[in-house]
Amino acid sequence: MSASCGIRCGIGYDLHRLAEGRPLVVGGVTLPFEKGPVGHSDGDVLAHALCDALLGAAALGDIGTHFPDTDPQWKGANSLKFLEHARKLLSEKCLHIEHVDAVVITEKPKLGPHFPKMREALAKSLGIPSDKIHLKAKTNEGVDAIGRGEAIAAHVVATLSTD
Ligand SMILES: [Zn+2]
Repeated sequence: MSASCGIRCGIGYDLHRLAEGRPLVVGGVTLPFEKGPVGHSDGDVLAHALCDALLGAAALGDIGTHFPDTDPQWKGANSLKFLEHARKLLSEKCLHIEHVDAVVITEKPKLGPHFPKMREALAKSLGIPSDKIHLKAKTNEGVDAIGRGEAIAAHVVATLSTD
């Protein structure tokens, strides 16, 4: 049966613990901060959640399927590479990114001032205009691990269209 034209949505979520002395990479941009995510790759929650949203919308599994954290080639990897790979997988299935909406949750630092750079970096990796990527920042109001500054998380919804 051939694919019919239409719209598909995918959801992605990611969380990383924050530890002293690690670079804080969010949306492909390194932010000045004393803590950063613990992870096999650079721990970019926004890139990871976005990758999962895209793979979900394309029914192609998840980030762990494509980039297992047991694989040494992804150790310390720049997560924009995951997005470049996802972009390739989408184009093989004739899927186009229509819109990306994201929420990044962290108590500190303030993310808003860095959004233009993040949108640019993410858009470049995906080969789409940056106005298709919408970013929002929230704190967790001091509650839970995120509120105590122990973790950073992201939720992303991606909308794709088929030919
Ligand atoms: Zn992750």
